[in-house]
Amino acid sequence: MTPSPTQPFPKQAAKPAVLTVPAFKDNYLWLIHDGVHAAVVDPGDGQPILDALRENGLTLTAILLTHHHADHIGGVPLLLEHTRVPVFGPANDGIAAVTHPLKEGDRIDVPGLDMALSVLDVPGHTLGHIAYVRASGTPGANWLFCGDTLFGAGCGRLFEGTPAQMAQSLAKLAALPDDTLVYCAHEYTLSNLRFAEALEPGNKALQLRIEADSRARGTHLPTIPSTIAAEKATNPFLRAAEPAIVDSLVAAGRLARGADEVATFAALREWKNVF
Ligand code: ZN
Ligand code: FE
Repeated sequence: MTPSPTQPFPKQAAKPAVLTVPAFKDNYLWLIHDGVHAAVVDPGDGQPILDALRENGLTLTAILLTHHHADHIGGVPLLLEHTRVPVFGPANDGIAAVTHPLKEGDRIDVPGLDMALSVLDVPGHTLGHIAYVRASGTPGANWLFCGDTLFGAGCGRLFEGTPAQMAQSLAKLAALPDDTLVYCAHEYTLSNLRFAEALEPGNKALQLRIEADSRARGTHLPTIPSTIAAEKATNPFLRAAEPAIVDSLVAAGRLARGADEVATFAALREWKNVF
């Protein structure tokens, strides 16, 4: 069959890729797509997603949500006005729009895409917060969509959960393969790195990351995705057991010598809130 101007060959689906859609002041909305179909993660705003779909010739096939905050779900009504697609999201985070409630251990085949995601419960920022993991085994194709749990060199604020819950959630994420790409929902990296540097001025990997990410932001490039390996090497919230970090907290009068790891984590989170 020959394509006519009105009936071109249908677009061929490619391997899934991730498109960065900036929104608001510092949010990233993620479009997972194969050149034909797309699933959006945490559409806090609808219009930038509609624009990105149109510009890239993509059809929306699913919405994936990590938690109930407005900057992550605010665009859902507008998107549903345009296309009725399934809305995947946490079973226990109070999101009325969710049609497919998820909890840890669930695995979904993303509608329209040749791709599976598994679900982790990561309470702390909110109590029902979930994360989506793509464990493809292929380098560059292991992905984590973690909302406001793990950030570049930081972690989300504890609006609902306890330090112990958040520390445990972060430990789950840190246990993912080193090459897992970390697609978090905010560009907070440079501010987080300033805090990390105050805690661990002698961390060489941290110094290199500060240089690289400062260069990226200097030209308005995203620092996200990062990797689990980079986070384990530089993110103080994954390094609460490091003697240098404990020493810095003790020296700042924010932690008693001999405190356990959860207390150290809590002291880190509290200091960051006012840093
Ligand atoms: Zn949030
Ligand atoms: Fe957020």
